[in-house]
Amino acid sequence: MSAVAHAAAMTTTEQCLLANSMLEDDPNDNSATNEEEKTKPRWGPSHKGAQELASLYSTGKRSQEVICVWLCITLMLVDLSFMAFHFNYQRLTTILLAALAGVITADFTSGFVHWGADTWGSIELPVLGKNFIRPFREHHIDPTSITRHDFIETNGDNFMLPIPFLLYICYCFCWHSHQQIEQQYALFSYLYLLAIFVALTNQIHKWSHTYFGLPRWVTLLQDLHIFLPKRHHRTHHVSPHETYFCITTGWLNYPLELIHFWSTLESIIEALTGYKPRADDLKWAQKRL
Ligand SMILES: [Zn+2]
Ligand SMILES: [Zn+2]
Repeated sequence: MSAVAHAAAMTTTEQCLLANSMLEDDPNDNSATNEEEKTKPRWGPSHKGAQELASLYSTGKRSQEVICVWLCITLMLVDLSFMAFHFNYQRLTTILLAALAGVITADFTSGFVHWGADTWGSIELPVLGKNFIRPFREHHIDPTSITRHDFIETNGDNFMLPIPFLLYICYCFCWHSHQQIEQQYALFSYLYLLAIFVALTNQIHKWSHTYFGLPRWVTLLQDLHIFLPKRHHRTHHVSPHETYFCITTGWLNYPLELIHFWSTLESIIEALTGYKPRADDLKWAQKRL
């Protein structure tokens, strides 16, 4: 059976999904489901690989995250005030369509970055490995660790990505003429919503793993499938984690699966480079003792 057919078969029945992904609706301590898992956990905070990965979170990394979160929030507020000042009701439809395109692009970006980090590279890569790939490895073998991370650890990297876009918007509002701003307003709406949803992606992802105490507005947005729903994301957490990479709204997961987008990309990269997809992810998953 091909990898995609296998994934499709795995994800079609609720029973398969529950049997092959981690229990989450316990108080986030990931109870073992059988005797073997008590001594050799397949996932959760007692998994040796997960403990090793958690210990690699450094103070230098934490500082980078704090700086990115504050810089990003400041730029978001500055850009929002510029956008409010130049807002024109007559262009509302164009602005809403551009904003919607921004949300869809953010969902694709979340899938692409997530797929890239899950599938390729390793913790041993200089700079990137310990700082940016490590959280993805940890998340597969201890999925609810994200619910125990604070705001900075959860969102630091996602608040870093939109900074160039937000700086660009800020630059344009400061230096372009009123007429130029009028012409570019739809582009700014697109980039602004893209930036907001990229920044919020891991918070939305965290909420999809949180089974207790979520605010009503969050569960409502999950139910409306505007935020990634819990059941939808669980499809990704079936070993070997080869599908449903989009984690913002999750809107693109099904269409991308339908056209075999990720598996085709993986086959091309493997044919060109010889690298096996998810080799490093599998290595960490096997560090059970
Ligand atoms: Zn993943
Ligand atoms: Zn997840």
